[in-house]
Amino acid sequence: MKKANSASTQIANKPAGPAGLHITRIKGIGPAIAEKLQRLGIFSALDLLFHLPLRYEDRTHVQTIQELRNGHSAVIEGEITSNGVQFGKRRSLVCRLKDSSGVIDLRFFYFSAAQQKNLAVGTQLRCFGEVSLGRNGLTIIHPEYTTFDELAEQHPATPDDQHLTAIYPSSDGLHQARWRAYMQAAFTLIKPDDLIDLVDVKQLNHAGLTTHHSLYDALKTLHFPPNTIDTHLLYEGLHPDQRRLAFEELIAQRLSHMAVKNRQHAISAHPIRAESQYAQRMMQQLPFSLTRAQDKVRHEIANDLQKPVAMLRLLQGDVGSGKTVIAAFAALQAIANGMQAAIMAPTEILAEQHALAMTAWFEPLQISVALLVSKMPAPAKASVIQRAANGDVQLLIGTHALIQEEVHFNNLGLAIIDEQHRFGVEQRRLLSMKRDDGYAVHQLVMTATPIPRTLAMTFYADLEYSVIDELPPGRTPVQTVAIANNKREEVIKRVEQACTDGRQVYWVCTLVEESEVLQCQAAETTADELALCLPNVKIGLVHGRLKAEQKQQVMRAFKGADLQLLVATTVIEVGVDVPNASLMIIENPERLGLAQLHQLRGRVGRGSVASHCVMLYQRPLSKRGQQRLDIMRQTNDGFVLAEQDLKMRGPGEVLGTRQSGAMSLRLADLERDSDLITPVVELADEISRQNPAKAAALVQRWCPDAEKFSRA
Ligand code: ADP
Ligand code: MG
Repeated sequence: MKKANSASTQIANKPAGPAGLHITRIKGIGPAIAEKLQRLGIFSALDLLFHLPLRYEDRTHVQTIQELRNGHSAVIEGEITSNGVQFGKRRSLVCRLKDSSGVIDLRFFYFSAAQQKNLAVGTQLRCFGEVSLGRNGLTIIHPEYTTFDELAEQHPATPDDQHLTAIYPSSDGLHQARWRAYMQAAFTLIKPDDLIDLVDVKQLNHAGLTTHHSLYDALKTLHFPPNTIDTHLLYEGLHPDQRRLAFEELIAQRLSHMAVKNRQHAISAHPIRAESQYAQRMMQQLPFSLTRAQDKVRHEIANDLQKPVAMLRLLQGDVGSGKTVIAAFAALQAIANGMQAAIMAPTEILAEQHALAMTAWFEPLQISVALLVSKMPAPAKASVIQRAANGDVQLLIGTHALIQEEVHFNNLGLAIIDEQHRFGVEQRRLLSMKRDDGYAVHQLVMTATPIPRTLAMTFYADLEYSVIDELPPGRTPVQTVAIANNKREEVIKRVEQACTDGRQVYWVCTLVEESEVLQCQAAETTADELALCLPNVKIGLVHGRLKAEQKQQVMRAFKGADLQLLVATTVIEVGVDVPNASLMIIENPERLGLAQLHQLRGRVGRGSVASHCVMLYQRPLSKRGQQRLDIMRQTNDGFVLAEQDLKMRGPGEVLGTRQSGAMSLRLADLERDSDLITPVVELADEISRQNPAKAAALVQRWCPDAEKFSRA
């Protein structure tokens, strides 16, 4: 593979002269910009061409107001007929714009006095923005605009009317205009011959794709769509040039995962024999019997561990499906064979909870369990580290503290990573390398994030995959409602009632700001407010800025039912298990994604009483926000939610999620392009068998990060 890879660079990035096509050869790109681009994985001018637009705006012609549709972006021209500040929930400047066909409101939440003056009645404007349907009809919120006077001054006044405007995924304050200029320059620098078609026309046709363009022309079309293009197809991602590139991208993804799998199969690990004595004893003391799905998965793992190659298995099970006990059985197999096991969890609360559960299960079997988190007092930490190194600790549970350099094991056989989406691939890798005899550690990674089948096929081709596809019996589905914040008092009454009935309640505070400080402040304020309204309810508070012991104390008190109401930030999102909690209030749910909401909601509905989730939203809701809440109300099924999430997010947020290594598609959309999956799998297999250099070139072109991510 390594060899093929270097050959590939030549196929994919045919060098143009000794300097090659380094990114700095593009006009306008100096070292500073180059560095920013490199952070996005763009190193050569060719990489740049594969940085594809997220979406398009049609600024090629002026539309009439009558033609406008909700959700579309458009250029319009007209005259201002009214201008005034409205004092609703939020102060805003509203100007009405009129053309010969109709009227539309322009609304500004942020505006200066000068701006208000500039938009006086009678002013003629050209403006651009996304049309939405407000209470008073069509509205554009924060349009870009230029007055006719300004237009007359700036000649040439016309924007590009030959091409649609591409909007690129970006970061680091790289403005859209810059991206377009770089692309323009890249197409001047790069000649069609520099770009090799790695998938030929015959193969495209075989997959049912038609294209009349070379790869070069296809890319050019997507970066600079001519104004004659079928915008319907383009916006849907169904233009032949898009489909053809999506096909190539999917093949590359598949190839990259196949390569990882092959490599994984070549990594030796110590086989861990199956054993039944310990397992039987543990089974006997469980207060439940395993579900059929748990049992199946337990065997899959047990079989894998017996092989002399390193296991890399993903265990997926919806929230509450009972993954922890499966992890315990896997750990037991290693421990029964004289090896150690480790469990890494993303938060201290979760690590602590696992430690409690595992201690309860393992202590009767005389197995020693220890917890390691960074905030422990130094002497306690040192002692655990020492006992792990000499083998006295048989199961070590912790946060990322486990991967610190000073942590060594005597004989680590199995590493279990809970809620793997919270960890980077690198962290997983570090844990799996905690042996010094050159053998790898078996890995079990667990996630509650459901993975649609199509995604599993292409993205997790490098992992073995187990699913717990049923919940333990006796669970009642969580009833979910959405209630606007102006009915807050009623919701608080409901909380009180639940507490009176002996139930426990979560109140989750969210904030869109990334700032942890603000999040914690919001939770503190809410806890104070609730304490005032509910003097008889015992209230606890957890957030990320509490000391570890404080957090654990509160969690323990809540678990032990000494607290009735737990106010929390999203720190409780993963894993926490308190079966008596049957009501959850989520504030500002509109700010969270479906996956996160589902995770949160999974904290209730773990016992046998009917559970409820109240999504306490702020009005007005955006259309997307509304859609998300509707979906949450309609289903408790993590798989359905995942499919919807994928559909709603699209490739737009890909860049942000890339780090997680999960969804790194630029252009393809597994849902939309699902018809391509079968030919993709066939062709990828063929290419990897017959033309390894080409396989490597494809991976290099589309998944330059694959190498970095894969060795996990
Ligand atoms: P998750 O998959 O979300 O990590 P947990 O492992 O925390 O779920 O399990 C949720 C709850 O279900 C725990 O209280 C656990 O003890 C319980 N549980 C697990 N398996 C079963 C089962 N087969 N029958 C009944 N309860 C179970
Ligand atoms: Mg869990």
